[in-house]
Amino acid sequence: MMASETEKTHTLLQSCSTESLISSLGLGIFCLVADRLLQFSIIQQNDWVRALSDNAVHCVIGMWSWAIVIGVKKKTDFGEIVLAGFLASVIDVDHFLLAGSLSLQAALTLPRRPFLHCSTVIPVVVLTLKFTVHFFKLKDLWCFLPWMLFISWTSHHIRDGIRHGLWICPFGKTSPLPFWLYVIITSSLPHICSFVMYLTGTRRAMSSKHGIHIDV
Ligand SMILES: [Zn+2]
Repeated sequence: MMASETEKTHTLLQSCSTESLISSLGLGIFCLVADRLLQFSIIQQNDWVRALSDNAVHCVIGMWSWAIVIGVKKKTDFGEIVLAGFLASVIDVDHFLLAGSLSLQAALTLPRRPFLHCSTVIPVVVLTLKFTVHFFKLKDLWCFLPWMLFISWTSHHIRDGIRHGLWICPFGKTSPLPFWLYVIITSSLPHICSFVMYLTGTRRAMSSKHGIHIDV
């Protein structure tokens, strides 16, 4: 009993190292600055520039969040960070899928929100992935993937939520999220995930792959 309590305390400390706290503070500041920069008329006046820079911010937040999870001072697996950014960005492809064309005009004037922007999809896909990874015994190599997808997609939905609210189909949608809530959720999400990953043993499995060593 005592041992497990000690272990939990260690776990909590591990997911909140000074480096990761500083980098999530940096992520919070990035969130504050990026959306202000996107308001500049040079970006707003062209649809493609606006859409691409908006998507780039999703990408950077996804990459940054995953970098916090796997640790910033270590020799990080850059491929994994790029994959996290890709997952955070790729959601917006559903605009074009629903529009059935590559026309940005059509993608921006949809009659309803496209399906990957329904937040219920996140737990469904994450659990399916977790099951798949387990079932095909890919745990050693891919145990991180459900977590990465969770962080990347959640951060995307929360950021879109500033303007559109969260769409929890089939229950409807919330009102737009306050900006401060978006910044707080986005910068604390990597820590919450790291913590749960330690508790569920995913971090231990990843450590052997990444060579993450934890000194508390
Ligand atoms: Zn989106």
